[in-house]
Amino acid sequence: MSPASGPRIGVLGIQGDFREHIASLRALGADAVLLRRPEELAALDGVVIPGGESSVMDKLTRSFGLAAPLRDALRSGLPAYGTCAGMIMLAAGLANPIAGQETLGVLDVSVRRNAFGAQNESFEIDIPMPALGERPVHAVFIRAPVVETHGDAVEVLGALPDGRAVAVQQGNILASAFHPEVVAGEDRFHRRFLEIIERAQCSSNGEREPAR
Ligand code: GLN
Repeated sequence: MSPASGPRIGVLGIQGDFREHIASLRALGADAVLLRRPEELAALDGVVIPGGESSVMDKLTRSFGLAAPLRDALRSGLPAYGTCAGMIMLAAGLANPIAGQETLGVLDVSVRRNAFGAQNESFEIDIPMPALGERPVHAVFIRAPVVETHGDAVEVLGALPDGRAVAVQQGNILASAFHPEVVAGEDRFHRRFLEIIERAQCSSNGEREPAR
């Protein structure tokens, strides 16, 4: 395998489906690496927070001392993409946290965890998302959250037939309630994330050091 020449992206690798994200990113030429320790943040051009269990991810990132520096890096413009539990981690508001659950709070949305009842814990649906191209996105929901409210700066990329938002972007932050990383051939979210990173690097005013 030739060495990746693309941006260095840290995939939060302490819980959840981080391996699938690493594979999706590497297939697009990104230098995808595991993110587990705070000192790894400085070398990154972007961060992916995978699906999994947000309450566990929250607890572990805090106990590893990663939550606060990650929040600071995101606040100062480090691009991020979160899927499912990752969307919950990024959200500013959480309608139904477990006791003591915190989020990173960098995306101006309020989400509800496990928003679909027991019969609908997992389901798949094709959702039109014109911003990503003509072909609808085949969205796989697994005990997924939904966006209940969002601020004006948040662009809704995709919504369920009932109008509830499930894919959003705010500046350098991209999030989906579903899992493109488990759908073969669905690389448009990861591509969009790479574009966000490229734009962030071009418009960087030097606040963040280029990774390499
Ligand atoms: N229900 C999980 C949570 O609350 C998210 C599920 C997922 O990431 N597939 O974190």
